[in-house]
Formats: sequence, structure tokens, C-alpha cells
Amino acid sequence: MDFTISPRIEDFRARIARFVADEVMPVEADRANWDAHGNIAHPPLEALRAKAKAQGLWCLQLARETGGQGLGKMGMAVCYEEMNRSIFGPVVFNSAAPDDGNMMVLEKIATPEQKARWLAPIVAGKVRSAFAMTEPHPGGGSDPGMMLTTATKKGDRYVIEGRKWFITGAAEAQHFILLARTSDDPRRGLTAFLFDRDEPGWHIARRIPIMGPEEHGGHCELVFEGLELPEDRILLGEGMGLKVTQIRLGPARLTHCMRWLGLAKRCTEIAREYAEDRHGFGVRLADRESIQIKLGDLAMGIEIGRLLVMKAAWELDRGGFAKKEVSMAKIHVANLLHKAADVAIQINGARGYSQDTVLEWIYRYARQARLVDGADEVHQMVLNRHLADEGRDFWHWDSTSG
Ligand SMILES: Cc1cc2nc3c(=O)[nH]c(=O)nc-3n(C[C@H](O)[C@H](O)[C@H](O)COP(=O)(O)OP(=O)(O)OC[C@H]3O[C@@H](n4cnc5c(N)ncnc54)[C@H](O)[C@@H]3O)c2cc1C
Repeated sequence: MDFTISPRIEDFRARIARFVADEVMPVEADRANWDAHGNIAHPPLEALRAKAKAQGLWCLQLARETGGQGLGKMGMAVCYEEMNRSIFGPVVFNSAAPDDGNMMVLEKIATPEQKARWLAPIVAGKVRSAFAMTEPHPGGGSDPGMMLTTATKKGDRYVIEGRKWFITGAAEAQHFILLARTSDDPRRGLTAFLFDRDEPGWHIARRIPIMGPEEHGGHCELVFEGLELPEDRILLGEGMGLKVTQIRLGPARLTHCMRWLGLAKRCTEIAREYAEDRHGFGVRLADRESIQIKLGDLAMGIEIGRLLVMKAAWELDRGGFAKKEVSMAKIHVANLLHKAADVAIQINGARGYSQDTVLEWIYRYARQARLVDGADEVHQMVLNRHLADEGRDFWHWDSTSG
């Protein structure tokens, strides 16, 4: 693996870094620009999105013919990390979850007609989207095989009945991807559908109150009571739902990690700034070995995360699935983010616990990172499966031919 980046990627990285420093950080610093859920309010967001678009810093994750910049996963790793120096960065560049994962999966598997109807408006920034998979007990969560929402074929339509929860962005999303059961086949029992919020037969039962700040549209519980969808709403074919989730979730998990590394770096930045200036017992905090050890340890943890993310990105870019690599990155970076926020709060003392910095925001947000898109334990289980299958070959080097 070569860790140098092309001049084109470096150009995007530098422009994003400047845009975040000059345009996004000042907006973040003024709480008048925040909405009631700890996110950027729509008026400043729309103004920033228009500027980002005008500068060609928009949907970098997509191919040029889709309206993006075709950076590939390695280029995205470089740029997403830079975007999330600000807590509001990714959404400004249309690279925030869940839209980025939804756009990437639609770009990859939707038919040309589906792309025109469902993907293009998200790329244009005209609508937001949601991905509805998780269900309350006793339905599907970590184990999608437990999914209870059904899609029953009646004539040429599918009738959806069931309940989903924690669906990010649902209160503001127009376009939804929904997973439902079409048969009891263990491998081909699930199907992915597209639907529009204005269609009858479903409603939002509640916006679930959570401990962290919220994405636009919150995290909602949805009830399906006879939503009827025609066959052309199916993604990839009946029974291919599990495949759709695999195609969507692998890269989406990795983009979470890319962004979280940016947040972990921001925590370190705020901790360092305070330690540079603050004195106690006649010694500057930054000169204390105990503080230096904490910061050095965080710096190493961030670099380990970047290496894991880059290895997974490289594997995806060369056409692999990167299942092991994505699981390792997801566990490490989620825990690193949590630790970075915790250590930075500790170094900042009472200030760290206040809302004078974004550390408490990141701390509350970070807790979900260890649960969403596969809890730590699920990814550890996946890694152990690979270990059981591959034995010592779990750790192998690919050699070049010739
Ligand atoms: C903020 C937030 C946003 C979310 N957004 C979305 C979204 O947009 N769309 C969507 O569909 N879902 C979303 N989710 C749901 C999320 O993906 C699920 O919470 C996650 O997959 C875990 O499922 P569960 O909550 O049902 O946990 P469960 O499956 O009930 O598991 C509970 C706990 O059991 C343990 N556990 C589970 N399996 C194993 C195992 N094999 N070995 C050992 N221990 C295990 C883990 O500690 C786990 O945390 C969101 C959740 C949150 C908190």
C-alpha cells in the first residue's frame, strides 16, 4: 500500500479544510445558528450548502456522472476526516449519514429509472432520505434475520405491515429505503423497497428522545398499516434485501469512521489548546508528563484508526468487501471517539463539561457510535468468525504477481 495521496485529492482536502475553518467553524461557534436538537439550523445550513456546491465541494463520494467527484473510498477517507473538524461539517457537503449511505447504495444498485426518481433529488440537495431497517423487540436489530415487518404480495402490489424504530432523519425525509420480509427463506427472505413520505398507509408514531444531539429529522418510530408499493419500488429484486443491506452498510460504516476520526482530532485540538495556556501548581498543563502521555496516546489511537480506515478503503477501492477491515475500523474508531471526548473533557476541567466547547456535544454523540451500524460485540463476533475460518491466515499479506 502506498500512503501518498494524489494532487487532486490533496487539492480537495486543502479546500475542504479552508472551507471548514473559514465558513463552517464561525457558524458552529454561534449558538444562534443551532436548532433545538443540537444541529445546525436550516437557514445557515442552506446558505453553507449553496457555497459548498458553488465551489465544487459537493457529494464528493459519488461518481462524476451522478453529480459527485469520484474520489473513491481512499479519497473520501482523507476528505471526510477534514469535514468533521466541525460537528456541522459533513451535512454541509452532503456527506452526512444517512443520506451519504443511501446515495451510495442507490448509485450502485438502482435502475436508471429508480436513480432519476429517487437518487437525483437527494444528490441535488432537494430532499433528505432515511433507511428503515431496525425494529423494536421482538423484531430485527443486530440480527436482521429476526425482522417481522412484512411485505405481502396482493396482485401487482406489496402491502407493508409492521413497525420500525430509531430511523434517522425520518421526520424530515422524503425518500425512504425500507427492509421488509417477503418470505421465510433464511437467506432470501428480505426485500428492500423505496417509498415516498407522502404515500398513505404509514405514519411516524414518535420522535424518540435520545441522549445525544440529533440529525435533522431525529430518530423516529414508524408504523406501517397497509402501505402499498408497486413492483418497480423493489431494489435489486425480491429476496435480495440482505444483499442490499450488505452493500449499503459496509461502506456506510466506514464513512462513519472517516467522520469520527475528524471529531476525535477536534477533541485533541481543544484539549491541546487548553493545556497550552492553563497553569496549576506552578506548572503549565502541557508540560506535565501525565497530560503529555494522555495526548500522545490519543494521537496514536487516531493514527491507528486512520490506518485501519485506509486499509479498508483501499480494499473496497480494489473491489474487495473489506468485511474484516470494516469491522476492525468500526470497533476501534467508535471506542477511540468516545475516549477522545472523555480525555479532552478531563483535560479541560469544568470547561470541558460546559457548553462553552463542543466537547460535551461530541461526548454525548460518541456513545451511540458503539451501538449503531453493528454494536462492538457484533463486529467482534464477525472477526471471530473470520478467525475460525482462516486460522493463522487471518493475518496475511497479499503478494504482487510476477
Ligand atoms: C442514534 C441511532 C441512530 C440509528 N439510526 C438507524 C437508522 O437510521 N436505521 C436503522 O434501521 N436503524 C438505526 N439505528 C438502530 C441501530 O442500527 C441498532 O440499534 C443496532 O443495529 C443494534 O440493534 P438493537 O438496538 O436492536 O440492539 P440488540 O440487537 O437488541 O442488541 C443489544 C445489545 O446486545 C449485545 N449484542 C447483540 N448481539 C450480540 C452478539 N452477537 N454477541 C454479543 N453481544 C451482542 C450488544 O451489546 C448490543 O448493543 C440507530 C440507532 C441509534 C442509537
